[in-house]
Amino acid sequence: MLNKIPRLTDDTINSFKNMEFVDIANIIIAKFIGKIISQEKLQQIVNNALNFEIPIENIVNNDYICYLDRGPTCSFKDFGARTLARIMEHFLEADNKKITILTATSGDTGGAVAQAFYKMARIKVVVLYPKNEVSDLQRKQMTTLGENITAIGIKGKFDDCQKLVKGAFGDKELNHINLSSANSINFGRLIPQTLYYFWSYSRIVGKKNEKVIFSVPSGNFGNLTGGLIAKKMGLPIKRFISAVNENNEFPKFLRTGVYTKVDPSINCISNAMNVGHPSNLARIFDLYGGQIDEKGVIHKIPNMEELRNEVVSYSISDEATKDAIVNLYNKYKKIIEPHGAVGWAALQLYRDSYPKNNDIKSITFETANPSKFPEEIIKLIDIVPEMPYSLKVIQDKSEFPNPKEISNYSDFKEYLLEDFQD
Ligand SMILES: *Cc1c(COP(=O)(O)O)cnc(C)c1O
Repeated sequence: MLNKIPRLTDDTINSFKNMEFVDIANIIIAKFIGKIISQEKLQQIVNNALNFEIPIENIVNNDYICYLDRGPTCSFKDFGARTLARIMEHFLEADNKKITILTATSGDTGGAVAQAFYKMARIKVVVLYPKNEVSDLQRKQMTTLGENITAIGIKGKFDDCQKLVKGAFGDKELNHINLSSANSINFGRLIPQTLYYFWSYSRIVGKKNEKVIFSVPSGNFGNLTGGLIAKKMGLPIKRFISAVNENNEFPKFLRTGVYTKVDPSINCISNAMNVGHPSNLARIFDLYGGQIDEKGVIHKIPNMEELRNEVVSYSISDEATKDAIVNLYNKYKKIIEPHGAVGWAALQLYRDSYPKNNDIKSITFETANPSKFPEEIIKLIDIVPEMPYSLKVIQDKSEFPNPKEISNYSDFKEYLLEDFQD
């Protein structure tokens, strides 16, 4: 799949300067699937899926923040989930088929997927989440919907949820239930995650082919993979900064060429990035001619020189994350949440290490809305972040209970067999 990445001409990319987001999105997505979907249908999908703002702001000197938190579940996961949902619905209708989507979440994916597929007649969704590791709001985004959405809280970690899901996909006795995944290595989620790279670039550059730096808060590395694909499509990117929290397997790998997953993953305040072995590493290795398996064993080392030229990675401690939140507020009166703060802190490290690139513009992604993580922000800057309407309404809704207590794979399998036979 990835060896067929389409290229855009410099002129096309330059012309984005004068276009609206949805028009840019149509051009890019059509490059991938334009042969199998009509222009009209694609336009409708994009208009419905990506109907929210994507503001970009200059913070200081050449440094910008782009806000990917304005979708209905207030994290950047909305881009992938909402586009994927509509594309899947379209093809299921064409084929007159139904499917059940199984997905595991550490917090934000579940909500985005649940909201994106809500009330789609041909699709049922089962989301597994770690009961004690998601915030109240994150849980409510999954448990208050009902209809075709089932959310099940599991005693354990994200990895335990992931194991149950993987078990089901590998189970021949479930073959007759049409199972599908919406996980972050799904190409239907990655393509929409290239769009905001093109968009934010087009808002800030002056001359044609000007290069920029992107700082990308990274956990499972789907966001960064979207950026790497955008670069292969021709977007002039000087460097990616892959900003991780204390789960530092990737910066260590870049430095040493040796990969060791962090197991168990470390709990940081940027909780959606607490990933000790990112699934998209397989994609990234592939893009640079390498190969790594699910267990984290490298079968072929990627082109390290090329990879290091294009990506730097910094691990940001919780302490430094909090400092970034405080500094951004004190200096510039901007409120950001822990994930975006990891990105901003990493950008500062990059600026300190590469002063000769100070005249190159940078874009840091804010990946969630501050009101999703109010505790830290209130503690640090004594401000209650304002909640967007889509989160406010969820707060007071009642939740559907776990349909079944699931403590091992056979419980889960039994549940699927009982409730998801067609
Ligand atoms: C998922 C998520 C991330 C990490 O993105 P990846 O694509 O997994 O690297 C960062 N911030 C927030 C708010 C998220 O929900």
